[in-house]
Amino acid sequence: MPLKLTSTDGLALIVSAPSGTGKTTVCGKLRELLPELGIKVSHTTRNPRTGEVDGVHYHFIDTKEFQEGVDRGDFLEWAQVHTDLYGTLRQPVEEQLSQGRDLLMELDVQGVASLREQNFPGIFVLILPPSLPELERRLVHRATETPEKIARRLETAKTEIARYPLYDYVVTNHVVEDTVQTMMAILHAEKHRSTRYCPDNEEIRSLMDPGIKT
Ligand code: 5GP
Repeated sequence: MPLKLTSTDGLALIVSAPSGTGKTTVCGKLRELLPELGIKVSHTTRNPRTGEVDGVHYHFIDTKEFQEGVDRGDFLEWAQVHTDLYGTLRQPVEEQLSQGRDLLMELDVQGVASLREQNFPGIFVLILPPSLPELERRLVHRATETPEKIARRLETAKTEIARYPLYDYVVTNHVVEDTVQTMMAILHAEKHRSTRYCPDNEEIRSLMDPGIKT
């Protein structure tokens, strides 16, 4: 059977991690190394943290606006994380992928479960801390949450870790630079899957799928 030549759709790299694992830092460095990666800015009902800019880090909206978006079916996926709502608009994601742009999407485990249910095509990566005490140390060091919130995030982390089979890859974030290199390796390997192969050589192309001979 000939290889099924795919379209030139971009590749969605979907990344989750328990809060405090270092996902934001890892994804920030990935974006620096791969400036051509498309950006998906989520919507959230949570308040901006110091330094966060509306439209850059998130679109900060209120619950009513969020609910209206849900009712209209604007969201590809959405979830309540901790105490707030987070969602990904369908239109910009589909638009960028169909234009051949790779996309980095940071989602919680519920968002990942929702995309898996929809058979959304993408590479799903879970980043984990080396241990739970280390995660707690990182959360305390970050100093953005109260002790109660930290305790809640640690409990949430346990349920997130248990859902690891939803993902294609699991990477332990010991050292940020190493994790970034591993993510790059995953991305490179995935780009070379036979099912994504799009030959630009006519002869090779015709040998692979006579049906698309011009
Ligand atoms: P934070 O409030 O720390 O920025 O994010 C909390 C959690 O929400 C993180 O796990 C983050 O990946 C997740 N998150 C951010 N945007 C979205 C989104 O659009 N959808 C879903 N399901 N989760 C999101």
